[in-house]
Amino acid sequence: MFNCIFCKINFGIIQVNKVYENKFVLAFKDKQPKAPIHILVIPKKHIINLNMVKKKDIWLLGILQFSIVTIVNKYPDMRKGYRVINNCGINGGQTIFHLHYHILGGKIFTGLMNN
Ligand code: AMP
Ligand code: ZN
Repeated sequence: MFNCIFCKINFGIIQVNKVYENKFVLAFKDKQPKAPIHILVIPKKHIINLNMVKKKDIWLLGILQFSIVTIVNKYPDMRKGYRVINNCGINGGQTIFHLHYHILGGKIFTGLMNN
């Protein structure tokens, strides 16, 4: 979509620090990291958020999630675990309306709501 930051990243209009790419997925470092390792994983297709995924695109969710596994396996600092977050919609804290998963790692997380 023309006005979407993550689509602009996908089309190379905005530069990022890419960590992984395949035909359907792109992953890059978050510009305001909330943990020692903070990676965003997006589908190349513009989908607004998890709640807007249509049945015909279910296969893409599997590819996105398995991409996370592939990415994490490259980082020794996430061997003991990591956190995956999807903020969905305004009340979910979503600020960029292009589906994305946050991978957070490189530290020990405790309770769900603790940093
Ligand atoms: P969310 O609040 O779940 O929508 O997350 C959006 C994330 O995108 C935030 O963590 C931002 O720091 C990150 N972000 C926004 N613009 C960029 C950018 N140009 N490059 C990398 N990360 C970005
Ligand atoms: Zn987009």
